[in-house]
Amino acid sequence: MRTPTHTDRASLQAEDAVDALASFRGRFSIPEGLIYLDGNSLGPLPRGAAERAAEVINNEWGQGLIRSWNTSGWFEMPSRLGDKLSKLIGGNEGETVVTDTTSLNLFKALASAVRIQQQDAPSRRVILTERDNFPTDIYIAEGISDFLNSVNAETNEHYEVRLIDENLSLEQALDDSVAVLALSHVNYRTGAMWDMDAVTAAAHEAGALVIWDLAHAAGAVPVDLNGANADYAVGCTYKYLNGGPGSPAFIWVNARHQGRFWQPLTGWWSHAAPFAMADNYTAANDVRRFLCGTQPITSMAMIECGLDVSLEADMGLVRAKSLALSDLFIALVRERCGEFGLELVTPEDHAERGSHVSFRHSEGYAIIQALIDRGVIGDYREPEVLRFGLTPLYLSFTDIWDAVEILRDILETRAWDVPAYRTRQAVT
Ligand SMILES: *Cc1c(COP(=O)(O)O)cnc(C)c1O
Repeated sequence: MRTPTHTDRASLQAEDAVDALASFRGRFSIPEGLIYLDGNSLGPLPRGAAERAAEVINNEWGQGLIRSWNTSGWFEMPSRLGDKLSKLIGGNEGETVVTDTTSLNLFKALASAVRIQQQDAPSRRVILTERDNFPTDIYIAEGISDFLNSVNAETNEHYEVRLIDENLSLEQALDDSVAVLALSHVNYRTGAMWDMDAVTAAAHEAGALVIWDLAHAAGAVPVDLNGANADYAVGCTYKYLNGGPGSPAFIWVNARHQGRFWQPLTGWWSHAAPFAMADNYTAANDVRRFLCGTQPITSMAMIECGLDVSLEADMGLVRAKSLALSDLFIALVRERCGEFGLELVTPEDHAERGSHVSFRHSEGYAIIQALIDRGVIGDYREPEVLRFGLTPLYLSFTDIWDAVEILRDILETRAWDVPAYRTRQAVT
């Protein structure tokens, strides 16, 4: 798909009329009059999800009760949904489970990768990530490192977290002390995207294992984990996969590590035979080893509604439209809002861009609040970043035009410049 160059609304309407993905908008229930540019944070409600929730609650739980673990497929749900999700990230069957949160799954993946290196290359004790990563990814890496060090306090074998930043490039940081490289494929703040193939190959060349956090990538950009020969991946289902608020996350493990990998949260759901109630722990010999305890079935069941929509859409078309929408958004903001000091922080090179676009402005928070009040929902991330998710399944080119016109009006009239818009809420 080419990017519409027209800068009038009518020609964008013509573009929408021939958009091959236009019909997907009807698959979501989005409030009338709202332009939703925050699907990278919480995807909208898929049509059919409310009915599915009622079915799970009224029939499966209400009528089936405990029997539903067997009769409604509750017990297999983490693997069954994992197999569906695997198709969106270049995984094979049996390599993915849906479970827990992204933070918890990252903990399990890191612990498992470190354990493999303790056997294969014990002198490697650095977990490498980047300063600009999503905070939980850094906190979890530090948490694991601190825990390993507290257990090994007597020895000199100390783990540490090393951060790539403007003073330390990936190439410089990847030395023979690195056990694991853990990166987000698409940066949550800027939308910058790493080259998964090249980075994975470089890390392997340097002897490190690689974990990809796909929180802002799964369902948003083409991902081929096996093609890249990655080791582990984790990610959310409530963002571009439209699984619902706080819906369980996923974890993928390359088949070559299956049966070998270990993870420390050895709860009974990771046991080879949970209902044997055995005295001794025997880990499941497949990716179910990454489960821990009883799964949140009502929330997990909702994920399938969004997943099925994503699986129907051609990812090539989704990517092409995502880039066209974001090119248009960037061009229109430049053209229509150029004098108001918005600084683009998202890479313009297509190969380096995910599916959201961010600008920096010292009054970013207040501007976002004013936009939300006018029915254009984006969000704000420290420091000073206005973030807009561009989701091809339910956004049109005219939505982008309309959003930029509202942004322009807010900037021109300084509608953002009132105390109410400066008051921070708990969630930004
Ligand atoms: C959204 C996001 C998370 C969220 O983790 P939770 O455990 O679901 O809170 C983690 N990592 C990245 C990169 C994210 O963008």
